[in-house]
Formats: sequence, C-alpha cells, structure tokens
Amino acid sequence: MDTSRIEKLTNAFGPAGFETEVARLIPNIYKGSKKLEADTMNNVFIGLKGEKKKLRIMLDAHIDEVGFMVSYVHDNGMLGLHALGGWVEHNLPSQIFLIRNDKGEYIRGVVASKPPHFMSEEERSRGLKLDHLVVDLGVSSADEVRELGIGIGSPMVPEVAFKAFPERNLLMGKAFDCRLGVAALLEVIETIEELNLDLEVVGSLSSQEEGGLRGAQVSARRIEPDLALVFEGCPADDSFLAPPEAQTLLHHGPMLRHVDRGMLTHPGFQSFALGIARKQDIACQEAVRSGGSTNGSPIHLSNAGVPTIVLGIPVRYIHSHYGYASMKDYGATVELAIEILKAINEEVYQSFKPF
Ligand SMILES: [Zn+2]
Repeated sequence: MDTSRIEKLTNAFGPAGFETEVARLIPNIYKGSKKLEADTMNNVFIGLKGEKKKLRIMLDAHIDEVGFMVSYVHDNGMLGLHALGGWVEHNLPSQIFLIRNDKGEYIRGVVASKPPHFMSEEERSRGLKLDHLVVDLGVSSADEVRELGIGIGSPMVPEVAFKAFPERNLLMGKAFDCRLGVAALLEVIETIEELNLDLEVVGSLSSQEEGGLRGAQVSARRIEPDLALVFEGCPADDSFLAPPEAQTLLHHGPMLRHVDRGMLTHPGFQSFALGIARKQDIACQEAVRSGGSTNGSPIHLSNAGVPTIVLGIPVRYIHSHYGYASMKDYGATVELAIEILKAINEEVYQSFKPF
C-alpha cells in the first residue's frame, strides 16, 4: 500500500479554523478529473457542479484536526492554551507542539506543567486542568515571544512525523482523525470515476469539525445531497476493553455506528451498508456509541433530511499526539464505500422512506 498521500495529509498543519495548509495540499494530491473548489471557510468541494443525475450523494471527511490556540502571553514568555477540539489534560505535559507564527513559520514549544519540586501537597493531589499548563518556547519574556511572531490567537498542532510499518499493517502519526478519512474519500472518488455510476457523487472535505461540526453545515447546504456517506477516524476502544464492551478494534475493519450523541443512523441505510459488507465479505464492525458525534450530525438534518451513514476507521489514542491505525482497516473502508456506491440507486433510496 502506498502511504505517501496519507503521510502528506497527516503531517500537514490544520487545526480547526486554520485548515488552509491542508486545503492547499488537496489540488496537489488529488488524481481525479472532477473540479475542485474551496469556500471562505476552508471547505473543499470535489465535483460540486456535476451533472445532476438521479441521485446525489455527498462523501464527507473533515480536513481539520485537534489543536490549540494561544490564549495569553505571560510576562515571562509562557503561553496559555485554548483548546480547538477535545483534549485530555493529562496527555499534554512534556509534549511538543508546532506554533504557526505571523510569517507562516513553525516554532516549537513544549507543554510545561509545574515541576514536582515546586508543588505543594494540595497541588499534587488535585487533578490537572488546562489552566495549569503552559507552552514554553524556551524564552523568558513576552518581548521574545513577540519577536518570534507569536501572539494571542496563534494556532498550534502536535509535532509528530508519520510512520508506516507495512509488515505489521500499521500506521502511526497524528491527525488520523480525520485525514485517514480524507485519503479514503479521495481514493474512492478517483476509483469510481472509471465506473460510470448512475449517481452524482460530490466530495466534501469540510473544515471545523473539531470546532463544533461547523464546516459541514455549510457544505451540506451547498451540496444539497440526497444521501451522505461520512468518513471518520474514530476512536478504537480495544486497549482497555475486550468484546462485547469493545466494539471498535484495530484490524477489524471500518466501524458503522447505529447511534452516537449527534445522530440516530438511518436504520434502512445502515442495514443496507452492513448487508453489502456481508455479501462482499468485507470486514466491518458495528457499534452503539453513547458519546461522540460526527459530521453525520449536521448533514443528516440538512435540507429535507439526508439518510447518512458513517464509516469510521478505528484509531487508537485519537485526540492525542500519537495514533495507531491499520492499513487493513483503511483498505476495507475504501472497498466498502465503493461497493455501497455501486449498489445504490433510486429504488434503494426510495426504500429508505416509509411509503
Ligand atoms: Zn473526526
């Protein structure tokens, strides 16, 4: 498996609201012939002005990642943190972040917490909060921070370089949520171009998912799909749980959720997709999620209502510096999406309505 595109996508800098680097990468790595367009929110569309055929299906993946923004600059040069997306505080100390300065350069900083030597008993026993943490650029004054071109509002992401271990079908890196989905979406759109399906397929690489599922609200209104297929990098739960509690295992195929906090997946579309996986013998997993949400949430409620399913590529340690994902799961996700698109038609879509 060629992982060079995944490498470029996951190494790219793009916290929620600051996706321009990722968006600008798309024209260089997309190999299909459909037209690319971007909007002012950093949403990227593939094939937006396509010929209107019977059925329009939106394929979505978000291009942003979790990161932070500088919330204040202390007199001693330490930077406060405002989260762009969901983070767990105890994953942060001693980790390196890249902060983009006003010239577009990346400056390294380490997340510092108070050393144990200076902590009181009370400080040791209380939980870690984000406002106990600072990013240290190795400077000693606010003036030095200014000279580096950094100030409040400067965005940052984890400094992590992608690695592939093909002999173990394993990928390691940052931003697998959702750049693995972006790579899968591109591959699906390129592959189906040769199949001449009787469908209008529009790609949506949406911004600000981690900032509150915002870009997809705009892209769904713009695309006006009949149906949607959302690609995600979704949390694997097999490090601390075993089945049946664990429902999203590494190397077991994409996860199709029946429900999460933002969507009750259309039962007809969900069972149609699961049926295709069974028929084509493609590994996949089913989950009932009481937490989390995806772009499926705004998309399925857009326009006149859009039956939507989510294909989640399992990622261990999502929303932290280092994630693990499986090449097999990535491949099975692409394969399943293609088979679903091959099988969808007007009759299937009509069967999703009660009469
Ligand atoms: Zn995501």
